[in-house]
This record gives sequence, structure tokens and C-alpha cells, in this order.
Amino acid sequence: MTDSTSAAGNEVVLITGAGRGIGAATALLAARRGHRVCVNYRADEAAATAVVEAIRAAGGTALAVRADVTRSAEVERLFATVDAELGPLTALVNNAGTLEKQSRLEEIDEDRLNRIWASNITSAFLCAAQAVRRMSTRHGGAGGTIVNVSSAASRLGSPNEYVDYAAAKGAVDSMTRGLALEVAAEGIRVNAVRPGLIHTDIHALGGEPGRVDRVAPDLPMRRGGQPEEVAEAILFLISPASSYMTGGFLDVAGGR
Ligand code: NAP
Repeated sequence: MTDSTSAAGNEVVLITGAGRGIGAATALLAARRGHRVCVNYRADEAAATAVVEAIRAAGGTALAVRADVTRSAEVERLFATVDAELGPLTALVNNAGTLEKQSRLEEIDEDRLNRIWASNITSAFLCAAQAVRRMSTRHGGAGGTIVNVSSAASRLGSPNEYVDYAAAKGAVDSMTRGLALEVAAEGIRVNAVRPGLIHTDIHALGGEPGRVDRVAPDLPMRRGGQPEEVAEAILFLISPASSYMTGGFLDVAGGR
């Protein structure tokens, strides 16, 4: 297959937090499109290994690398491993992110704020910095793409649930615009997807595993989304099919 969404054979994609959920779906689809894939994970080695094994069983190339992407030393090691094992990076998907128990703003303490900023904002900044050092023509690179996984929460604010998480995704949106303009003339495109309510395990972190099903009747399409539907948008943004798109946002939120 050689259409504009397929890899030419030398693409290397690093997806943070790819052991499950949207990251895992993106890793599997990227491999199917011919990309070599790094499946980053923080703790769940079995889940990340299962994603890599599924890719290899289908004839693809993948590597699982443990790294907490909120830590700069671990991010440096993660990118160095990709350099050595898969070759020059062509695409980064900043997917890792977390939320915490549904709360009102006045119940959120300093430690939680710092965890939420780190997992959703610091991670994206640290990984983007490593990607730019490798991809930017200013640094001798051949260009590339960065996709940030933001959230519809950045537009909606998530009242009574997690205003901290929504605000962190607002920061990701601002970084998407700012970095896109900073590197637009250096061969790097930076865009974001903003998923709505997607069926993954993240909702259990908020204390309500069945959140998507509870809210589904009130959603415009009367259903939540699947991780694979978000992965399609991410793959579009890292493909040449989106070659004139940078600093942009794809809402994958069923009209929400
Ligand atoms: P998920 O099922 O909870 O998966 C998150 C993954 O990220 C896990 O595999 C986790 O790995 C990894 N991770 C978390 N912190 C990490 C860190 N510091 N370093 C490395 N890996 C880390 O979440 P998801 O629903 O797929 O969400 C993926 C992204 O989409 C997140 O940015 C989320 O905010 C965003 N999003 C999700 C929804 C939704 O409804 N699901 C909606 C909008 C946006 P371990 O298990 O190994 O810790």
C-alpha cells in the first residue's frame, strides 16, 4: 500500500504511554501503516509487551521501553534507546497523561496539582524538546511531526470532575500552538487531537470506571468513542496527508 497515509519504510514513531488505551491503539495502527514503533510505558510491563508482541506477530517492528516521561533523565534515556534501536525519530505522539479522583477545585491539594501538571504538561514538554533536537533542520535533522493528545476537557473545563486536568490540557493546547509556530520553518509540524469520552481505563483513575456509559445517553452521538477512532486521527496528523496542517486541532469528540 502506498497511499499518502502509508509509511515509506523509514518512519520511526515514539508513542508515550502506549501500553493500553489510546496509546496502544495508536501503536497498533502505526505498525499496520508500516511505521517502526516505540511503545513507551511507565509501570505495566506486561501490557506494553503484549502490544509489542501483537505488532511483531503481524510482521511489524516494535520495541517496549520503560520510562516515566515526567522525569528528564528517563526521557533522555528513552529517546537515546529509540535512536540506537529503531533509527532516526520521525514522529512523536505525546499521549501519556493522567487524571485523578473526581473532585471540586477547592478539594484539590498542592501535591495533586503538581502530579497533574507533571503527567500532562511536563511530560509533553520534555518529550517535545528531545524530538525537536532530533528533527529540526536547525539541528541538522530531517524534519518530522509531533502530535499532542489533549482533550475536549480543555474546551469544556470539566467542572465538578477535574478542572486541574482540563487546565493541564489547556496548557497542552497552548504549547501546541506555540511550538508549532516556533518550528514551522524547521521541518516540524505540531498538532493536537482533542478526544472526547473514549472507552479506556483512564476513567477508573477518576473513580468512575463506567463514566462513559453513564454519560453516553447525553452525548450528541449517544455513544462514547473507541481508542481506535482517536488513533485514526493521530495517524492522519503524522502522515503526509496532513502536510499543510500545523498548530491545529482535531476534535475527536463525537460533536461534544
Ligand atoms: P489510560 O488508559 O489511563 O492509559 C494511559 C497510559 O499512559 C498508561 O499506559 C500509562 O502507563 C501511561 N502513562 C501515564 N503516565 C505516564 C508516565 N508518566 N510515563 C509513561 N507512561 C505513562 O489513558 P487513555 O484514556 O488511553 O489516555 C491517553 C491520553 O488521552 C491521555 O493523555 C488522556 O489525557 C487523553 N484523553 C483521554 C480521554 C478518554 O476519554 N479516555 C479523553 C480525552 C483525552 P502505565 O500503566 O504503565 O502507568
